[in-house]
Amino acid sequence: MKRREFIKTTGTAVAGAIIFPNISFPKRNPKNVVIIGAGISGLAAAYKLKQNGMNATIIEARNRIGGRIFTHTFNQENLTCELGAEWVGASHTRLIELCKEFGLELLNHQFETHLILDNQYKKAGEWDFTPEWNTKYQALLNQFNALPPESEAKKQYDKLDWWRFLVNAGISEKDLEIRELLDSTDFGESIRQVSAYAGISEYAESSEKNEMDYHIKEGNNQIIFKLAEAVGSDNIILKTSIEKVEQRNDSVTVYCANGNRYEADNVICTVPTYSLLKINWQPKLSNDYFDALNELQYSRIIKISVLFSERFWKNESLDMITDTLPHYFFHSTKNQDGKKGILTSYATGDRAYILSKMKNEEKIREVCKTLKSAFGDVEKYAERAVNYYWGSDDFTKGAYAIYNKHQWLNVRETLNKNHGRVYFAGEHLADWQGFMEGAINSGEDAVEKILISLK
Ligand SMILES: Cc1cc2nc3c(=O)[nH]c(=O)nc-3n(C[C@H](O)[C@H](O)[C@H](O)COP(=O)(O)OP(=O)(O)OC[C@H]3O[C@@H](n4cnc5c(N)ncnc54)[C@H](O)[C@@H]3O)c2cc1C
Repeated sequence: MKRREFIKTTGTAVAGAIIFPNISFPKRNPKNVVIIGAGISGLAAAYKLKQNGMNATIIEARNRIGGRIFTHTFNQENLTCELGAEWVGASHTRLIELCKEFGLELLNHQFETHLILDNQYKKAGEWDFTPEWNTKYQALLNQFNALPPESEAKKQYDKLDWWRFLVNAGISEKDLEIRELLDSTDFGESIRQVSAYAGISEYAESSEKNEMDYHIKEGNNQIIFKLAEAVGSDNIILKTSIEKVEQRNDSVTVYCANGNRYEADNVICTVPTYSLLKINWQPKLSNDYFDALNELQYSRIIKISVLFSERFWKNESLDMITDTLPHYFFHSTKNQDGKKGILTSYATGDRAYILSKMKNEEKIREVCKTLKSAFGDVEKYAERAVNYYWGSDDFTKGAYAIYNKHQWLNVRETLNKNHGRVYFAGEHLADWQGFMEGAINSGEDAVEKILISLK
């Protein structure tokens, strides 16, 4: 039997309306699903549908698959860096399982964190939080871990932001400054904008290196290519943006900006909230759902990957937190052979925005200026750079969702509700929110819900 049973018709756009030729549709296979978005969430959902004998068509607005997984290769040097997702966490069991299944090798991507604060450079091991805070912090994490899952006591953490929580716990000014610098790289904005629930669960439940453990050999986009291959490239339609989703009793019609439309029994929508709000939903989404979409913000992150003619930093496992504009650095080409190497600056929030406004040469200069207190004048080694500012990405307007106080338990719960035959997925909805793992889990969960609805 033919795998794809989708009905694709081309309409004519007249004064903003789409008029379709008067054709009769053949009877549909009752298990057709349209997936909006070919990020890892959409691809994982399609793969699971295929494994369950169902048909999936993925429709993607960009001219590439992968969404926020965005590997860049410096072709001449054959060195790669990630402009989107970087680390695979040791606790990210589903992603690790998929890598195994597809024969992808995971390379160690753990680092030893150096520090530049107030213009003073300290190597890993030469700096730390105060002993009092280390003891207190561990006790706070243990206390959280000891609470029963989904208990009222756990929910209380969502009532305040992570910064306030730490201040209330008595953190010193200096310890707080370093926590802010470190944790804002995880959340993508100041910890004043992060729910304490999101904050404490991130650090209490994560691997020792905070899920910064591995990287997929030859780039994280390898998992994207493998999933796409498994799903079948003829089931993935690129450069096609969904504008409208209309439901009737027994089917859903998805309308594309180019006039095409697709009919399905179910839709899995994996797009970030910014894109989701632009889709015309018929019938409309509930007011609660709209409110939740409008509430959720995404973090501003810029990655600037500079190719240097020499690995002057010597230490293959270098990463470094700083109080300067480029914010955080790490060695992208760890485990990649070559004399040349890439250091990536990863800046968040206002820092990211300010850097995004600079010309490419200015960005490189800013990076080298920061590195000076650790390695001297390194601008002579800088060859070229690539960068990507997620704050102005056309489809996300941010890197990943950032749950503020009162949002983790309310907003996320609302956004997880299905809209009739439409199920939502994507990084922003998952327990492992902000990670590839979460995006996969949410896509697979959406399929699970469809399977249950068919029983
Ligand atoms: C800078 C940065 C650093 C990160 N670091 C890490 C990390 O170290 N480790 C980690 O695990 N994760 C990391 N992440 C997060 C990870 O990249 C995401 O969680 C994951 O890739 C999200 O996948 P997704 O499928 O949910 O969304 P996306 O990848 O955003 O996929 C959604 C797709 O929908 C498409 N789309 C949008 N609107 C429409 C429309 N109307 N019609 C059709 N298609 C549409 C988009 O183009 C996009 O391709 C990082 C992300 C960024 C940006």
